[in-house]
Amino acid sequence: MNDLPVWQLVSAQMKYILVTGGVISGIGKGIIASSIGTILKSSGLRVTAIKIDPYINIDAGTFSPYEHGEVFVLADGGEVDLDLGNYERFLDINLFQDNNITTGKIYQHVINKERQGDYLGKTVQVVPHITDAIQDWVVKQAKVPVDADGDEPQVCVIELGGTIGDIEGMPFVEAFRQFQFRVTRENFCNIHVSLVPQQPGSTGEQKTKPTQNSVRELRGLGLSPDLVVCRSVTQLEQCVREKISMFCHVGPEQVLCVHDVSSLYRVPLMLEEQGVVRYFKHRLHLPIEESPRRLLVRWKEMADRYDRLLKKCSIALVGKYIKLSDSYASVIKALEHAALSINHKLDLKCIDSEDLETTTERDDPVKYHEAWQKLCSVDGILVPGGFGVRGSEGKIMAISWARKMKKPYLGICLGMQLAVVEFARSELGWTDANSTEFDANTKHPVVIDMPEHNPGKMGGTMRLGKRRTVFKTKDSILRKLYNNKDSIEERHRHRYEVKVDVVPHLEKKGFRFVGHDVEGNRMEIVELEDHPYFVGVQFHPEFTSRPMHPSPPYLGLLLATAGKMTAYLQRGCRLSPRYGPPSLPAAPISPSLPLVPTLPCQQLKIFDALVAFKPEAGLA
Ligand code: GLN
Repeated sequence: MNDLPVWQLVSAQMKYILVTGGVISGIGKGIIASSIGTILKSSGLRVTAIKIDPYINIDAGTFSPYEHGEVFVLADGGEVDLDLGNYERFLDINLFQDNNITTGKIYQHVINKERQGDYLGKTVQVVPHITDAIQDWVVKQAKVPVDADGDEPQVCVIELGGTIGDIEGMPFVEAFRQFQFRVTRENFCNIHVSLVPQQPGSTGEQKTKPTQNSVRELRGLGLSPDLVVCRSVTQLEQCVREKISMFCHVGPEQVLCVHDVSSLYRVPLMLEEQGVVRYFKHRLHLPIEESPRRLLVRWKEMADRYDRLLKKCSIALVGKYIKLSDSYASVIKALEHAALSINHKLDLKCIDSEDLETTTERDDPVKYHEAWQKLCSVDGILVPGGFGVRGSEGKIMAISWARKMKKPYLGICLGMQLAVVEFARSELGWTDANSTEFDANTKHPVVIDMPEHNPGKMGGTMRLGKRRTVFKTKDSILRKLYNNKDSIEERHRHRYEVKVDVVPHLEKKGFRFVGHDVEGNRMEIVELEDHPYFVGVQFHPEFTSRPMHPSPPYLGLLLATAGKMTAYLQRGCRLSPRYGPPSLPAAPISPSLPLVPTLPCQQLKIFDALVAFKPEAGLA
């Protein structure tokens, strides 16, 4: 980090928007923060984002997906909180690992400086040394270009994880209390996202007390909210808005409502409708027009189209962390993007791969038969990335089913490695073929450790981040889906790889490795001949999927599943004009935001968070 005093680092124009949370976590603070960024970006500003996770881990790399959901991987190899994925998707930007600050990173930085004698014998303390380090980090990182044009951002949205009052979050709150004076009032504001609980059912009264208490707590720590964004099940009643305004010492126009809606695409529209742009323009002296509506047309079009979808596409997600859908957040979003781009509603069936195994048939035949019934009924199958032997045989069975029944299949990372295992076992007769991750002593190790693998050490020891894949042949389906590019760049996160010696044996049987790394040593893409769509990729294309630019391997899966692949290829790999976002400018946004009842995956719903809420999880 740069060690200049903060006041010398502060850029005159940079506007900082701190988003804090109250009452409970998991109510969509990240989506609201991303949506604020989206609106400002639609107003013509360059926007970046920083996510603060007050836990002590250095990064998310060692997390179990059951703890915090998926580990999101950035282009620079950073293993970060999944909220960074929301920022990248909403804002269409590429962030860096330093855009995710943790207590661990800050302490590591300060302790390293102390060891180097940088503090000149002083006692190193939380205030000022930790709080200064936090501010320096934010100021430095906010300036790093994240857009394709490479220009310095003008607005930095900072999301503070957890809720106000958490012990771990205190040094960060104190840092921002100081920060507001250093950067001055016209460059800093605070949005507080709170919960307005309500009994299920339309007559339930909306309760303001939790919001009052959390704003009081925030004020007690020296931060005053500029906007109080209330998460609620239904629209905030006017009297509730007025009550929050009165008790939280903000004007009624500073109380915003984000109620449950049919899709996340509606959130930026909903906030914009409530005058967010006008508010920021005056509060932060932003050089923008008051109405970015025309530029939000694409979001409006997407949200409307999403609500109108009639045709369904059923995809089985066969994994082992399916109890928490956040474990596969980016995979599910990438499937949603692809489905929406061909005007289909994603009908996602999550299957626990262990339930497909014969041991389950013995112990719990009902579970076993239900899992197989689900698998048999879907149109397409996806096996995502994963680690550890548990459930791997069930995944292999699902892959075998997809291959033999000619069901469209996409294997991501482990899903590709296990496709290799399955093919070697069934088509080469190597019945004990396996990955050395699962059987170190197999006679047929078809997937093996990579040199980068550093056994015994955790965190940052995998092949991580953006790497180039070169297409070996012109007649690859994936190459076509990637617009006939000779090479592509996608993000990786793995320790094991396909053993090069087995490649000729597999290729002889029609299992073609059509993409490899620049050196030609690492197998990156596999495609099966004589199958509608059987594709495995060693990388994770879901991390770069965007609502308006679906990831090509995912698009391929959905096109094949919906029976539209041939037409798509004949049209020169263009979506039908009836599909996809319209070109700008288009019709203005209508002021009404119809509420459409529940849809899977992408809806913004509060009640799940409330049901899942356990008071002791408040610090997480
Ligand atoms: N466990 C496998 C490996 O380390 C696959 C990893 C993954 O799917 N992300 O290579």
